Amino acid sequence: MTASVEAMPGVSAAFAASVRARWITEAREGALLVVGASPRERKEAVEWLVQAILCEEAPVARPCGSCWSCRHLDSGQHPDLHALPADQPRIGIDEIRDLIGALMLTPHRMGRKIGWIPQTERMTEGAANAFLKTLEEPPGPTVFILESSRPGSLKATIRSRCERLRIQSLKAGRDVDTASPEESAGDARRSLIGDYARLLDGEIGPLDLEKHRATTSLSEMAHDWSLWLAGAAKSALGWPVPPDLPEPLKHRLGRLSLSVLLPLYTLARETEYLARTSANDRLAREALLVSLFQGCGHDDRERKTD
Ligand SMILES: [Zn+2]
Repeated sequence: MTASVEAMPGVSAAFAASVRARWITEAREGALLVVGASPRERKEAVEWLVQAILCEEAPVARPCGSCWSCRHLDSGQHPDLHALPADQPRIGIDEIRDLIGALMLTPHRMGRKIGWIPQTERMTEGAANAFLKTLEEPPGPTVFILESSRPGSLKATIRSRCERLRIQSLKAGRDVDTASPEESAGDARRSLIGDYARLLDGEIGPLDLEKHRATTSLSEMAHDWSLWLAGAAKSALGWPVPPDLPEPLKHRLGRLSLSVLLPLYTLARETEYLARTSANDRLAREALLVSLFQGCGHDDRERKTD
């Protein structure tokens, strides 16, 4: 584990400062849920956090990279870091019990202990219930770090007990002013489709899509979804997947059954029609996005905003 000493990767300076204030300077206990960007980028952010929390330098200088804790983290053996393996298909109740058992022990150093659960969505129902109890009654000074590409699939009761930390992809941090108009349009489209994918995952809610209003009109949005949902319905019937179905949406829509896809398709077509008449733009947009979100099994009332 080699974390950058200066800055937390993937978060803005202001956000890093607030994370530092609460989780490093104030030495808070509790649970963090790291979401967004790629698995590798989330892992880097978690490694930085772990090192900053366990580092034994003054809070403002953490992680220092040279103290006893930093050196032991670098060699992969810090006694107060308890991490579940990342390479197993699921996290069962036994793994969670072992983790809790390890965290019950007094910290080896003077600070807090860390329980790191990579790809938390792998938890079985039993494991999630056992973990929830631990979150309600933490085993001494502990910080749990959860990480997930599909936070919408975690129990709402677990999500609501975590502070959400959204990581930005560093690759997306390009200078838009220097891009050509075509490139900017392509980027806006990619960002829109990326956000649609996150909506289907339950990672963001329908209202988070508001920022794309300038990029895509109601009529374009409804037309896109009519095409994509028709394509997904056809492929559910055994036809080849249409080439115009964007890659990030392909497998997400592929998981839905016809009984979910068809009403969504009908709604998208109706919205396309409405867009040509005197529809309330905002309402019609929201109605379609909420249906897509709920069609993928997410409940907006359960969602905790960032
Ligand atoms: Zn250190």
